[in-house]
Amino acid sequence: MAVAIPYVYEYEFAYATLETVSPLVRRMTARNPSGFTFNGTGTYVIGHGNVAVVDPGPMIDEHIAALSDALAGETITHILITHTHMDHSPAAAPLKQLWQAPTYGYGPHGAGKIASGTPIEEGGDMDFVPDHLIQDGQMIEGDGWTVECVYTPGHTSNHMCFALKEEKALFTGDHVMGWSTSVIGPPDGDMTAYMESLEKLQRRDDQVYWPTHGTAIRDVQPFVQAFIDHRLEREQQILACLNDGLTRIPDMVPVMYTTTDPRMFPAAERSVLSAMIRLIDQGTVSSTLPVSTASDFLLTSD
Ligand SMILES: [Zn+2]
Repeated sequence: MAVAIPYVYEYEFAYATLETVSPLVRRMTARNPSGFTFNGTGTYVIGHGNVAVVDPGPMIDEHIAALSDALAGETITHILITHTHMDHSPAAAPLKQLWQAPTYGYGPHGAGKIASGTPIEEGGDMDFVPDHLIQDGQMIEGDGWTVECVYTPGHTSNHMCFALKEEKALFTGDHVMGWSTSVIGPPDGDMTAYMESLEKLQRRDDQVYWPTHGTAIRDVQPFVQAFIDHRLEREQQILACLNDGLTRIPDMVPVMYTTTDPRMFPAAERSVLSAMIRLIDQGTVSSTLPVSTASDFLLTSD
């Protein structure tokens, strides 16, 4: 039985408009809608007067100009980056230049632990290097706001969430989103790290999540639990396939993704691979390293 994830799709927004979404938070949506970004990148502004910007977004002139205009009477003092995908960090460069504001992030785009030496996944912003390297638990103090850095690797190895203490709000980047599961693309994406980062959120008492794509998640804990359950269910499906003698991912995907458009099967294969790597990490499954979607997999007990 498929795990039901309580997705939230509907919300009001307008492109190139800085919209107030809570007393301390405003959001501007960039016009880059797609199958990966939903309606587009939501760039958040924390505070008033002296503000932090979370995920400036992609290099879209309209977005950068609208953000600059909307903040014309204010000062950007901090630029916070959840992770270095092309829809999140590139616009940090022009904003930094306009406001002389330093950038904060866990680090440059990473390479991941599996199949090192092979090209890392598409969509990484290889140019971004944060001015300030931030770590889990670090506090960033602004003018009327306080942000705690919450390291959440998995979607990427450098993914950071930001907790706004004054509102018990967590900017979740692409770690937890209301409209979709997160893409965990090896080698930089890591399912073991992702699951640990979901469990980390279970131990926190954040009251609302602001993902970079889509609208707020208000009932946060059932959501996190559903994402964990969904991945565990996928693992059980993989183990069932292996039990049935299917040893290759391209043979498993049509069995596991019965309601999915076959054009999405290559993406599904990568998702299964990321789940498979966690099963290898756990010692449940074995294969010849480095693994790929073309590898053969076996239950370790075989
Ligand atoms: Zn991303």
